[in-house]
Amino acid sequence: ILLFVGLVLGTSVPDYSVPPVAETTKHAYQTEVSRMMKLIVNSLYKSKEIFLRELISNASDALEKIRTASLRDEGALGGVRDLNITIAVDQEKGVLMIRDTGIGMTKEQLRENLGTIAKSGTAEFFQTIEKHGLNSTQNFIGQFGVGFYSAFLVADEITVVSKNNEDEQYVWQSREEEGFSISKDVRGNTLERGTMILLHMKEDAKEFLEDSKLRELIKKHSEFINFPIYLYSTKT
Ligand code: ADP
Ligand code: MG
Repeated sequence: ILLFVGLVLGTSVPDYSVPPVAETTKHAYQTEVSRMMKLIVNSLYKSKEIFLRELISNASDALEKIRTASLRDEGALGGVRDLNITIAVDQEKGVLMIRDTGIGMTKEQLRENLGTIAKSGTAEFFQTIEKHGLNSTQNFIGQFGVGFYSAFLVADEITVVSKNNEDEQYVWQSREEEGFSISKDVRGNTLERGTMILLHMKEDAKEFLEDSKLRELIKKHSEFINFPIYLYSTKT
């Protein structure tokens, strides 16, 4: 990893306030997703910290995708040529932000990727648990990767802002298991390209708003990430 730690200075970090979301239709999660979320929250509450590894790994995958796309089509990178991950904290609001300049998601991809489970490993994951019981989960997380939904271990509200080259910028939002909503970002295409995840942290997960904790976790679980990670502190 290439980990940079710095203070938020001027415009170095994109605006990471939670965007205003108009009242929109709530979509229900696919049954498997609800099942997965309950399972994660009930069995991994002692390993909350894995959420960061999962989100950084998704960011890295998205960066790899745009890099690959740019090899075929030079124009794919557009005005966002720096491929990196930025992590910043708003202590006052209790929000942790993870942003990447990766491929981003269209509206349709937000609905599919963050509302259903398509990957083959999921069935296997449930089978393993049915066979060996919930307590075995700890041993299997490393193998399977529990993915995006592990963010609900630490957050009671998650906002995902995403911009893909093929679409406008959209905002996906969800409070725990209530379902999710997707709406066009009223602020426009502020990201240009990529994804920003905003986690409104639960009361018992405030430790993850400390720079020292974040630094420790990045070093521990995200050692082999091939893109620079910028960790910004709001403390002076
Ligand atoms: P997995 O990474 O194993 O596919 P996840 O639950 O971690 O499963 O993520 C689900 C999907 O959501 C990913 O496959 C990807 O398509 C999409 N996704 C998640 N995070 C991002 C991101 N930061 N940028 C682009 N797509 C993402
Ligand atoms: Mg993943």
